[in-house]
This record gives sequence, C-alpha cells and structure tokens, in this order.
Amino acid sequence: MRHIVENAGKNPMSVLKLKNSYTRQIEVFEPLFPGRALMYSCGPTVYSFAHIGNFRSFLFSDVLRRVLERNGYEVRHVMNITDVGHMTEDHLADAQGEDKLAKAARELGSDPFKVAQHFEKAFVEDARALRLKLYLGGEAAEPGQHPRATEHIPEMLAMIQKLLERGYAYLDSAGQVYFEVAKFPEYGQLSGKKVEELEAGARVEVREEKKAPEDFALWKVDAKHLMQWDPHSEKGWRPEDWKRYRELAPGGVDARVRPGFPGWHIECSAMSRAHLGATIDIHTGGEDNMFPHHECEIAQSYGAYGFTVPGPHGAADEHHARKTFARYWLHGRHLLVDNRKMSKRDGTFFTARDLFNPAFNGRADLAARLEALGFKGGRVLPAVLRYALISNQYTQPMNFTLDLLAQAKASVERIQRCFERLREIVGPATDADIEGPAGDRMLALVDAQERAFDDALNDNLNMPNALAAVFKAVSELNSMELGKAEAVEGLRLLESFDEVLDVLDRRERSGLLTRQEIDARLERPLPEFESLATAEIDALSVAGFVALRQAARKAKDFKRGDAIRDGLKARGVLIEDTSQGVRWKLE
Ligand SMILES: [Zn+2]
Repeated sequence: MRHIVENAGKNPMSVLKLKNSYTRQIEVFEPLFPGRALMYSCGPTVYSFAHIGNFRSFLFSDVLRRVLERNGYEVRHVMNITDVGHMTEDHLADAQGEDKLAKAARELGSDPFKVAQHFEKAFVEDARALRLKLYLGGEAAEPGQHPRATEHIPEMLAMIQKLLERGYAYLDSAGQVYFEVAKFPEYGQLSGKKVEELEAGARVEVREEKKAPEDFALWKVDAKHLMQWDPHSEKGWRPEDWKRYRELAPGGVDARVRPGFPGWHIECSAMSRAHLGATIDIHTGGEDNMFPHHECEIAQSYGAYGFTVPGPHGAADEHHARKTFARYWLHGRHLLVDNRKMSKRDGTFFTARDLFNPAFNGRADLAARLEALGFKGGRVLPAVLRYALISNQYTQPMNFTLDLLAQAKASVERIQRCFERLREIVGPATDADIEGPAGDRMLALVDAQERAFDDALNDNLNMPNALAAVFKAVSELNSMELGKAEAVEGLRLLESFDEVLDVLDRRERSGLLTRQEIDARLERPLPEFESLATAEIDALSVAGFVALRQAARKAKDFKRGDAIRDGLKARGVLIEDTSQGVRWKLE
C-alpha cells in the first residue's frame, strides 16, 4: 500500500467494483457516506459447530472487508449471532419445523441458552483461528459488532409494532404476527422468484390462519418453546432489554400479541438497523440466504420504514440512495465437497475443527487420509484452511476436496518459505544497517505485482488473479540475487499481500547471523545477561545475546559463553556455529 500511495500519480489504484445480486450487475462501489463503508453479514446460527461451507461465506465477507480497507474506507462490519428463531426448514417462504436451537437443546439434553453459549464460544475460537478480522483485536471485545438475537428483542418488537401500525403485518387468533407479502410488490426481486412459485412450494400448517401461504412469521407463539418473551410484562426479561423496549415502543405492542419468540428474518433487519443505522452500504450472506431470508429483510424494512429496494447508485439519485435499506447485496456461492452436497453419511461433512484436529474430533479416518497427503499429524493448519476457502472467486461455487487442501498447503508454504528467506537476508538489521535504495528491478516488481493484486481484488474480488500476482512475485523474488535493501522491499510486498490473505506465520523462527553482523553487533551496547530470561525473542534480540556470547568467548570466559547458550535454549532458541556464522532457530 505504501508504494501505491507514494506513486499515486504513476500507479493510480483501480476502482472497486462488486457484483450486486439485486441488480445482477457489476457496479462501482460508492458508499453512502464518503470514506466509510457500512457492512452487515448474516452470521452463524449457534446450534452446532460451524462447517466449512459456513466459513467460506464468512471468509468471503472478511476478504471484502479487507479489500474495502485497502481502498481506504473506514469499515464498520457487523455480523450477528442467531441464537433463537432460526427454524429447521428455512428454505420455505415461511420457515416451518423446529427452532434449530430448541432441537439441538432437546438432542443434547440441555437448555437452549446453554447450547447457544457453548456453540458461540466454539464459533469465536474457530473464527479467530481462521483470522476473521471481526474477531481479532479490539473489536472482539465490542459486542455491537456481533450482536446476539436474544439481546435485541426490544428492537424486533418495536419493528413488528411499526409493521402492524403501517398495515404490513397482521395477527392470527393465537397472537402470532405475520408479514403480508401481497402488500410488497417487489417481494421476490432479489432472488428472481415469483409469488406464484412460492405459493406452490409453501406448505400451510393446519393450525395456521395465514392470509396467504407465502406470508411469513415475524413473531411466533409456541408454549413449548423454552425461549419466551412476554411483550406485556417484564417477567423473564433482562432488565436492560425491558428498559430499552419501553423506550423504543413506549406504548408497547398490540395487546393481542402473545408471549413468544421472533422469526429469524426480523432479527437481521432489527440488528442491522440498531448497529449500522437505517441504510447500510453492503449486505452479505451465502446464496442460500437470498431466499427467503434476504427477501424478507427487504420487505420488512420497506414495510416498517418505507425504505425502498436498491436502485441506481450515485449522487444523481441521492434521495433514493438514502432511502434504501441495503444498497449492495453480495452473495457467496455454495460449497460442494467432492462435487456433491456435504453429507455426514458420505463422510464429506467437515466442520472447521474436524480439519484442525480430526483425531481429537473422532475422525481418525480423516486424520489418516490427511497424513497420507503430507499433513503433519493429520492436522490442517488454520492458515491452510483459510487459504483454501478464499482461493476462488466468491461468485463461483467451490468444490472442496482434500486435494484442494493439499494444494493450499503447498501454496501457503511457498509464500512462507519466500518470506523466511527474505527475512534471513535482512537478518537482525535495523534501518541504519540498510545501505542505499533497492535496485530498479526490485522496485518495478513491487509496483507491478502490488498493482496487479489490487486490480484483481477490485475486480469483484477476483482472488485467482490476485493469487497469480502473488506467485509471480514469489517466483521472481526466488530467482533474484537480493541485497538487504531489496529483501526489505520484498518483505513489504509480501506483508502487503498478507493484509488480505492473512496466511503468513510472522513469527521469526530461524536465521543466520554472519560473522560480520556479530562483529558489528559487538561494537554496540550489549544486553544484560540477566535480561535473557525475560527478553522478547526476535531476530534482533537473539543477535544481541549471540554477540554477548561471542564477547565472553573472546575473553576466554567459556563458562559464561555456555551459560548464554543454555539460557537461549531455555527460551526455545537453538544456536549452532557454522562456517558462515551462527545459525539460530526456534525449537
Ligand atoms: Zn440474516
């Protein structure tokens, strides 16, 4: 990035273009507020461990977010946690079946709140391992970035009340609330489904009193459901939620609404509005979310607040832009395993943690197959899984195979080896040690490949082309004779790629300290022996202690020299004297 900015005149960055599912066009991204991008991604339903298909979708939103950041946008990214109301038959216009959480709780013999907590914790662990930026760093502690449905019942009820008041929703005799699809003519435009098709596909439960089969539930009533909120009494509510509910809907909701729980679709409409405002720039999800989930979100925002469907973007139509719920809809295509839908019976269903540690997760067969493909201990490193899941374009279906994983492993190792070689050339140098600027060939390589990488990603996140730029750079770097200054530029380039890829292990694991470097180091202040026990271990500090050992040996104090070597060993650093100097590596 540094280079792009410095050379902005010569190397202007391409503009970001994205495929908007709503208009089915590739469009130039123009946020509502200059310099800011507001983005909402449908998050996990925490009733089981997330599988690789889920993570492919979440990682696509992570790559998008990082590309927006590379383009200079300040991104606010929200991804919700669905911990109530997501039914088992969610492909139907009005999802039927059982609440996924309730079902998991019944099967596990636990209560749904505990089940949700357990799987949310597991999800966060997996998400961090796979380096979803939403769960790294300071944001991890900010609950507004990953809101839970069960903590946004006030926002949902307030929205339901608006829908009732504005005539887009109606009640049945049980006190359930439905959205009346006939009131929203644009329903079906995102997915291209026609209402007639929906009617044919929808099944009407006998006990239901809906006006039309495609109408969907906003609020469900079921006395057996363990998660219940009474809209007319604070009993059972978290006090802070009840207080907020009274503020958001001072008159409460219609007295005929009975205690119950929300439908899945109203959750995302309410949470995105609560944390990102009325209009968001980008809404992402998997293609299976397009219908009915996202159609319903659009319908609800229209009904409650008069927000229109996405229209032409840009300043010329600012009024329209401001009155749109989500301006760009982006959907990741599905993931197949061995060209088929993932299946537990066929052994092709993988959670992320199945791959991280198959033997531990009862998949000894998988561990053996992975081991045969060269995976040490039959385990897949999270960086390798991340690489595999982001390696094709999100608008293409992904066929996941163990061979794809093996290729991903080879690719990550290739970048890592190049990175380590460059770091070894730079050695424990400080800026003062690096003489002169890098040569022209190196600077041209950095400019060309960084630009190719950005151009590819700005072209609707064309990851295969972006990776082609990465490997072009890697093979050129591998073929070049590099001085320290060149290696520094090469490192910057790989680190710049890794802002998006995030697959490099940046820990310094090994290096060579040449005799000249050790001599140069001896002329500077040496570290205290006592600090060896607590010093931060990196190439620079290792160089200091190796020089300290050299000084002791020069003074014929071999006992002290050995003590320094043993002290380094105790910190996990092995050193070996070679003809070129001292080679060190982490255990
Ligand atoms: Zn959603």
